[in-house]
Amino acid sequence: MRTVDLRSDTVTSPTPEMRKAMAEAKTGDDVFGEDPTVRRLEEKAAELTGKENALFVASGTMANLVCQLTHCGRGDEMILGDQSHIFYYEQGGSSALAGVHPRTVPNLPDGRIPIESIELAIRPKDIHFPKTRLIVLENTHNRCSGSPIPPDYMEKAGTLAQKHGVSVHIDGARIFNAAAALEVDVKKLTGPADSVSFCLSKGLAAPVGSLVCGSDSFIEGAVRQRKILGGGMRQAGVIAAAGLVALTEMVGRLADDHANCRRLAEGFANIPGLSVNLDLVKTNILFFDPIKENLPADVLVNALADNGVRMLALGPKTIRAVTHYHIQPDDIDYVLNVMNRLLSK
Ligand SMILES: *Cc1c(COP(=O)(O)O)cnc(C)c1O
Repeated sequence: MRTVDLRSDTVTSPTPEMRKAMAEAKTGDDVFGEDPTVRRLEEKAAELTGKENALFVASGTMANLVCQLTHCGRGDEMILGDQSHIFYYEQGGSSALAGVHPRTVPNLPDGRIPIESIELAIRPKDIHFPKTRLIVLENTHNRCSGSPIPPDYMEKAGTLAQKHGVSVHIDGARIFNAAAALEVDVKKLTGPADSVSFCLSKGLAAPVGSLVCGSDSFIEGAVRQRKILGGGMRQAGVIAAAGLVALTEMVGRLADDHANCRRLAEGFANIPGLSVNLDLVKTNILFFDPIKENLPADVLVNALADNGVRMLALGPKTIRAVTHYHIQPDDIDYVLNVMNRLLSK
């Protein structure tokens, strides 16, 4: 049976070019700072995001945790969206490991947090209060329909942070998707932030790894936090090599994933029994709701899986589908056929 795996863009596996680069990678002990391939990847990441330096880490979760640990001390407060990945999907690592106090503010459906609500959440100086140290923005915003957050908003958030002496971190797991969807240089999005993390292992199809980017002094601190988390890797050039291919070969094709996601969304919008907000579909993530009676999301997801179509139920009435490198337009047509069939029963 044909399989169309739309659970996440993390299911992508390395391209032949990546495997070749991995086999041929020059390596060294990266904890001693001696792996030339890791260094090249970090320099490339810094250049693309317009930061002084970068650090290769094992995952997006580790990247975000390293950044929280570098920006904040124990008991310091971090302002972030109530739908943010850090708050929702990282096992409470902020509290459990970093000792950071998370202050959530509601996200808008398009992933932004109203600037006024961020400003209201910033603590005045008072012995009763924790100190606000960090504002976290997510771009694209995973749980908010993969929305890309535009440069003018990022700029406003940066200005607000500066006014209050607070730092900004961007959880940019899919920041290159945001740049592609908005048709801007990624630096326009990262400019206002003190740190940004992004994933190589999602739409960019590398097997492992994320990058943390920031100033030289920030990265100097981040290296120590990575080490204390057990994230110092030795001959990591073997995986970094795939990351370099990801950054040179895969960024330019993300618009294809967005077009396929759009095709899927428009198809679903025409199927009675499904509800889709097309205005929110701008990148490679589609959220939709089955609204047919007696058809909860998990039941539909199981029926799809029986037909080789894999998606995730993220709520009783919410399903997520994500397009990526291995999905072609005819896969989308197949999914639309299956969905039509299941809902006409
Ligand atoms: C996937 C993701 C992460 C975490 O990345 P992992 O590599 O899975 O740890 C962080 N933030 C966002 C927005 C993500 O989508």
